[in-house]
Amino acid sequence: MKILYEGKAKIVYQLEGEEDKLLIHFKDTATAFDATKKAEIVGKGVLNNTISSILFKLLEERKIRTHFIKKVSEREMIVWKAKRYDLEVVVRNVAAGSLCKRLGIREGEKLKKPLVEFFYKNDELHDPPICVDHALLLGLANRRELIHMKRVALLVNRVLKSFFREHDLLLVDFKLEFGKLPDNQIAVIDEISPDTCRLWDAKTGEKLDKDRFRFDLGDLIEGYKKILEKVQGG
Ligand code: UDP
Repeated sequence: MKILYEGKAKIVYQLEGEEDKLLIHFKDTATAFDATKKAEIVGKGVLNNTISSILFKLLEERKIRTHFIKKVSEREMIVWKAKRYDLEVVVRNVAAGSLCKRLGIREGEKLKKPLVEFFYKNDELHDPPICVDHALLLGLANRRELIHMKRVALLVNRVLKSFFREHDLLLVDFKLEFGKLPDNQIAVIDEISPDTCRLWDAKTGEKLDKDRFRFDLGDLIEGYKKILEKVQGG
């Protein structure tokens, strides 16, 4: 199969004979801080593919359009091909990460209402936070599309937050990417995994997501496995 794109955590292949579909392969590579910190963590790709597949399926059941078609192996899923917007849409329920650094809010502070932020997906510029007018200026999307993405991001937050709460997990924040499908619909693409969400144990407050790797808080696989076990009802 032809590789269309290889990123830090995934390889994207063109499916042969099916021009409108892609195969995503989840790698074991973990990166943080603009890829200045990097490691191979055996088993991460399997866990992220499994967790992402569960979450995409949940969104599809709730009528939220995603690129997900099906999980086809431990490390692989088949998705619809979409034209990616160069945007990252972050939703936050609790202050953490760059929000604390930028605005001086204490980590763990519950936000009065979910906060939606746009970032410009651009490695050279280190993915800066941008406002709607910046996105329009750069031609990243039109106003209607930006409004739609914000609305869908808040809807995804409602679905995921209550799903995780039922499984004793606190959804602190997460990042979404969007793309345009061949039928012109906007869909959630990429992955939704502990690499792209902050998830804390609702009872103990233990951090179970990629912050374990970023800040050497403990074994990453152990955290991701706990998330999977919880969402599977274990
Ligand atoms: N995030 C991501 N990819 C990025 C940047 C952020 O998946 O390139 C996720 C991150 O895991 C967290 C949320 O988006 O769940 C908010 O991240 P933040 O802006 O706090 O950045 P960070 O502290 O990770 O630099």
